[in-house]
Amino acid sequence: MSLGRKLFERIRAQDGPLTRELVRRPGRFGLGQVPARLAPDAVATSVCGYCSTGCNLRAHLRDGEALNLTPDPAYPVNRGMACPKGWEALSALEAEDRATLPLIRNRTSGELEPLSWDEAITRFAEGMGAVQSTYGAEAAAFLGTGQIPTEELAYLGSLAKFGMGMLDGDGNTRQCMATAARAYKESFGFDAPPYSYADFESSDVIVLVGSNLCVAHPILWERICRNPHRPEIIVIDPRRTETAIAGTRHLALRPKSDLVLFYGLAARLIERGAVDRDFIARHTEGFEAFKAFLADFGVERVLAESGLDAADFEGFVDCVASGERVSFWWTMGVNQSHEGVRVAQAIIDVCLMTGQVGRPGTGPNSITGQCNAMGSRLFSNTTNLLGGRSFESAEDRAEVASILGMSVERIPTRTSLAYDEILDGVRAGRIKALWIVATNTAHSWIDSQSLSEIREKLDFLVVQDMYTTTETAQLADLFLPAAGWGEKDGTFINSERRVGRIRKLRRAPGQALADFQIFRLIADRLGLGAPFDRWKEPEDVFGSLKALSRGRPCDVTGIRDYRMLDECGGVQWPLSEAMAEAGFETERRLFAEGRFYRENGRALFAYEAPRPVGEPVDRDYPFVLLTGRGTSAQWHTETRTGKSSVLASLRPGETRLQMNPEDIRRIGLEGLERVEVRSRRGSVQVGLWATAAVSPGVVFLEMHDPATNRLTRADFDPYSRQPSYKHCAVSVQGIDGGDVPPTRKR
Ligand code: SF4
Repeated sequence: MSLGRKLFERIRAQDGPLTRELVRRPGRFGLGQVPARLAPDAVATSVCGYCSTGCNLRAHLRDGEALNLTPDPAYPVNRGMACPKGWEALSALEAEDRATLPLIRNRTSGELEPLSWDEAITRFAEGMGAVQSTYGAEAAAFLGTGQIPTEELAYLGSLAKFGMGMLDGDGNTRQCMATAARAYKESFGFDAPPYSYADFESSDVIVLVGSNLCVAHPILWERICRNPHRPEIIVIDPRRTETAIAGTRHLALRPKSDLVLFYGLAARLIERGAVDRDFIARHTEGFEAFKAFLADFGVERVLAESGLDAADFEGFVDCVASGERVSFWWTMGVNQSHEGVRVAQAIIDVCLMTGQVGRPGTGPNSITGQCNAMGSRLFSNTTNLLGGRSFESAEDRAEVASILGMSVERIPTRTSLAYDEILDGVRAGRIKALWIVATNTAHSWIDSQSLSEIREKLDFLVVQDMYTTTETAQLADLFLPAAGWGEKDGTFINSERRVGRIRKLRRAPGQALADFQIFRLIADRLGLGAPFDRWKEPEDVFGSLKALSRGRPCDVTGIRDYRMLDECGGVQWPLSEAMAEAGFETERRLFAEGRFYRENGRALFAYEAPRPVGEPVDRDYPFVLLTGRGTSAQWHTETRTGKSSVLASLRPGETRLQMNPEDIRRIGLEGLERVEVRSRRGSVQVGLWATAAVSPGVVFLEMHDPATNRLTRADFDPYSRQPSYKHCAVSVQGIDGGDVPPTRKR
């Protein structure tokens, strides 16, 4: 019996009208279909479902199902390269703990037990309905992700807010990109990373800030390696990372002294006259006030606070002052900070005052984290109304209602609470039901120990995911089994604003459904009408998103259809109909004309005095704990990369604390293999790794171990509400022999 036949037999064993519909018209729900437009024994392509680089992968098929993957040599992003995660992406689909059936918590036994899809949707509607009718529609909220296609994000945000009356929903992109989004929006007038990856190859000075590119975005590092100009590569990072070793200069500054460093850089550039007066005068606003503000950031202060020596700092200033094409690239070292927005804007300020924007090889360039963080930023309908609009604007609400053919009263008139504020709402008893889609909150959220209190406060927790075994799925009242990347269709938007196609390459196991189809079942059950009755396939939603983008900075009306994305190798936004008709380059950057998206067309110099960190070190907790990615074989909470034996062989077998040998000697840990790390929130026991990669006084743990976030402290940037994962105070003690359980041993 074929796999498809077996699936149908399993579904037939269930009962209920929706299930009968599943059996009668399986294609309507994505079950049992041979992937669209795929011939047996052919090759099909799909953008990778891990990081924001957006590599294209070729799937080699037998009987219409992917057998293995290779990088696409023709795609303009990766040009035949992929990192280990991309090569191994199918292994995550084959894991034994894939969710195959909906599950409900048995109140008596406490166990999760199977039920049919029909019953599951009923229980979803009843559970949410009970909370919302008792406490108000706003007592339910959702937490989404940057890991699902844009069409699914838009469906989820619309279903929850326009269909179910929720006011609040956020996503795990809050944990990685909220800072960059907020910084661009305020400085440029729209959340618009300006670059193309081609800029890596045309810069003569590349400044990487808080970015271990070799490990986190290895294909982008490969793009740097193809730069023919022998660029100066300056790495600004407290750790001597793989990237710092590979660069030409490393500025190992003290943790969280980056804002002072960039203000000091700006002050020195002004002193040296290394500014572009013409660009400033024609295209910016607020320079004179910024210049006055910089009076407090002399070299002495920079050196004292950053710990850099004068020659290193002056060498950095020289490189930026003399570079023809200088580009700055930042990731989580900037974004995950208590003042990340201002650091990102200090980088933007330096680019504006030196005219390093809009030309090849330039730009203040934020590299995103997740494969569809950029799709989430534009179309998740969480803190922005669809298409980067404002919930507070009556004009924006009317426009969206008109395009989607629904009543404007269904659109909330305020923006959503941020992730931490939603969790605070649960803690305070205002939010009683939570719907978590494709993210592992119980592992990844900062100060994760505090989440057990939150679970206790919820009347109804729905988790929708590929696996039943994640820390978050284990807490669910209702679990909905979802198809993963490679088992569904749609689009992602990568870091350089490239809309790329993802494709169904395999059938999902058991009764798992694409998130899109789960949302459809819910919308069907609730009888929600427009726009949901028009959104039958992902490309229907894509059509609505095109309409919603018309005339906006992110205009994609020139993308004819999904097929065009295949033909072009993806398309960077904007691509209006007029641009498409006139012909367009496949690699494009923004602001070539020096016109920004603010009302007066000028970019804004934004700045603010540095603030102290939330938890400075002291006698009891004398080390700064940094957290971050371990290897290029690991992805976040490892729900997927943890399934591959190939990837397992490429990462350490056990979590280890990186600590400077000088500190190890000083506090008497020599000869020990294991230590206990304590913060004011909790303690963990890990291996000890003596390495000069971290300076004395600083220690590092990888974020992939769930134990790490038992230590981190819930500090947030006040503007972006992004958590500050990269600074808290800890102590380190030796463990005296005995049988010590590791935090994670693979
Ligand atoms: Fe490319 Fe990122 Fe996928 Fe690796 S994880 S193959 S770098 S998109």
